[in-house]
Amino acid sequence: DWLNIESFNLVQLADETADMLHLTFQRMIRVHTGKQDVLLNGDKDKIRQLLVILLDNAIKYSKDAIDITLSVNKGIVRLSVSDKGIGIPEDEMPNLFERFYRVDGARSRATGGAGLGLSIAKRIVDLHEGKIDVFSKPEQGTTISVALPQKK
Ligand code: ATP
Repeated sequence: DWLNIESFNLVQLADETADMLHLTFQRMIRVHTGKQDVLLNGDKDKIRQLLVILLDNAIKYSKDAIDITLSVNKGIVRLSVSDKGIGIPEDEMPNLFERFYRVDGARSRATGGAGLGLSIAKRIVDLHEGKIDVFSKPEQGTTISVALPQKK
């Protein structure tokens, strides 16, 4: 299919991606993991793109530090990106992964964007036969949580 599968260390990829975005946007991005290595069989470039999309949103819709958490258990790799930003209203949740969908015209115009990021993120997760979930509270923040099979 459309994937270029290799085995790589997700901790290293997350560190590199966080460093790159830190340099560009001067925002603190912390990577939390109990392990030195979280090995994943997947398409490394697409997983990097997934991280960039989630981090870019967290940067756009919050002002404070951003947390990436990585873990692996029973062959499932979990990756989440959390911010303490404006959050997403409950009734908007079902639409977030649609192409060109953006929450509330006014607040979206202030940040810019096409509304493609999360639809691409979902596509990448689907191609890896994983799951993506959103947890969010207005004014408190957002966590996007991804679960991927370790061996595709
Ligand atoms: P782009 O195409 O540049 O990513 P976008 O950020 O508008 O533009 P999506 O990434 O698809 O598009 O996100 C869809 C909508 O979900 C956004 O417009 C925004 O309202 C909301 N959203 C996504 N991530 C967050 C977040 N971390 N905090 C608050 N709202 C978010």
